[in-house]
Amino acid sequence: MDLFVPDYAIDTEEIYSRGGRNFGDESFALFKCPGCWQVYLIDESADVVYLDPKDVTSRLPAERVRRECVGCGAALPDEPLSGSSAPDEVRVTWDQLRATRWAWVATVEVMLRNQKRMKREAGL
Ligand SMILES: [Zn+2]
Repeated sequence: MDLFVPDYAIDTEEIYSRGGRNFGDESFALFKCPGCWQVYLIDESADVVYLDPKDVTSRLPAERVRRECVGCGAALPDEPLSGSSAPDEVRVTWDQLRATRWAWVATVEVMLRNQKRMKREAGL
């Protein structure tokens, strides 16, 4: 299994059911502050960052979090925070995720289900 949590392991339905919907074209990913390991959920479509795993209505524009991590106050690296070009230091491993209250947001079950769907869609 990949060390890092892939975007398709994120439980979109669960986020919606907790009130985390934006505009319907959500593209969720996880990243972390390399300084203090604060884990964040981002909707790349709306460029909005979810701050609180217990309250997904608590969000900030990604720009604000880039400027100042809510955990340690440091600026985040001026690099992509998600996607294939994100540096390892901002990516979140399964172990790191499970050590936070964000553990519910991505699961192996969702990852496997989406893997199957992606294979089916690719005609494999
Ligand atoms: Zn930080």
